[in-house]
Amino acid sequence: MQFVGQGNDQFGIKAAMQQNQGNVWIKNPRNIFGIDSEKKLVEGLVLRDGKVAQILGPGESITAPVDEIIDASNLVVLPGLINTHHHFYQSLTRSMRDAINKPLFPWLKTLYPVWAELTYSDIEIATRIVLAELLLSGCTTTADHHYLFSENCTDPLDVQFQVATEMGVRVILTRGSMSLGEDQGGLPPRKVVQGEGDILADCERLLALWHDPQPYAMNQVALAPCSPFSVTPALLRESAILANRHNVGLHTHLAETEEETEFCHAKFGSRPLDHLEQNGWLNERTWFAHGVHFSVKEMQRIASAGAGIAHCPSSNMLLGSGLCPIDQLRKTGVAIGLGVDGSASNDHSNLMQEIRQAYLLQRMTNPDYSHKEALKLATCGGASILNRPELGHLNVGAAADIAMFSINDLRFSGAQDPLAALVISGAHTAHHVLVAGQWRVRNGELVDIDTSLLTHQHNAAALALWQRAGIA
Ligand SMILES: [Zn+2]
Repeated sequence: MQFVGQGNDQFGIKAAMQQNQGNVWIKNPRNIFGIDSEKKLVEGLVLRDGKVAQILGPGESITAPVDEIIDASNLVVLPGLINTHHHFYQSLTRSMRDAINKPLFPWLKTLYPVWAELTYSDIEIATRIVLAELLLSGCTTTADHHYLFSENCTDPLDVQFQVATEMGVRVILTRGSMSLGEDQGGLPPRKVVQGEGDILADCERLLALWHDPQPYAMNQVALAPCSPFSVTPALLRESAILANRHNVGLHTHLAETEEETEFCHAKFGSRPLDHLEQNGWLNERTWFAHGVHFSVKEMQRIASAGAGIAHCPSSNMLLGSGLCPIDQLRKTGVAIGLGVDGSASNDHSNLMQEIRQAYLLQRMTNPDYSHKEALKLATCGGASILNRPELGHLNVGAAADIAMFSINDLRFSGAQDPLAALVISGAHTAHHVLVAGQWRVRNGELVDIDTSLLTHQHNAAALALWQRAGIA
């Protein structure tokens, strides 16, 4: 990993990011979302020391000087968006000719041999491009699920943490794992499968090195065996015990396809949720990616356990996995966040666009579904399933993670309700983004990052990966 931290200019990032004091007055916002305050008219939001310090009603003034005043009269202000499921490395395998237009299992089997060729350099550039794309879409906190470990690349999460720290994005990086190879009746090839002892030892190492248990943490680790069809029951059980011991999150793919349900019946004699529950997974630290194929009784069990769902609408549509019953899950009391999922099954990382996708998809079957419900998925919903109450809202004391969208774009012209317009007309690029009170996007541009150079480097890395895998 010697290249990490060196040659930042090579990746278009200046050696030292300019940090301001982070005391900002966001004045006269056109609209604001994520405040419980009874102040009907919010005239401003003051950020101080990385938190929301004041919400100003009519006639109220700031209690201490600020470093900067932002005129937000043409901006809609949102809590920084939260992405609850991703696979950053997949940005190097977008729209692969052999993988597209396939359902999950054949799609995975086509891509595993390519992903087996990933290097540390690939992980670094993939993480940079995805975090850049997420920031530009207003996302300030993201989870990632990295489950590809090979002889070439044994410690990819260390690279991801270093890049995220440099770029100033709040992350929950989940240590994925695969221990059930094809030769044992699982799906992945032996080349990308690890032993259970090695996996658990690396989980312990990462927790000790990177996990910050405090509120407002920038870096957290969660444990994430990949799926019921790629890990042994023993690894599920041991991961749950380890997560409990360290009080950290547990994450996996679950109930994504009917094929997975059939696999679990044939291999373990149970439905996917039963299989996970038998191995200690049904509790408040767990969030499942997808959750498309649950019965109502299963939803009730998830709700009473306090586990959550990361809804990934574009991925479910692209892979033809099914329609996640968001309305039923919500009525049953299950907490739901939003995820863009990996960049090979979306194939973008724009969380604002994903909110629109969730909204439109739910409108198909639920006439009561609103744009505000869709916005909640990527704000307070995401914070809830990640057990991060300081995120996903803008009440006093919340983290100063803010996404501001201009309503001056062509696509919003003529819109009466600016908040609804972000979702219905489809906002794409945030105008300003702050994470922990620090500027990350200004006037629609990433601070200190040359996106043209970054894209050039990423495209070159993708081509080299395809060449190594023999599919260029
Ligand atoms: Zn996924």
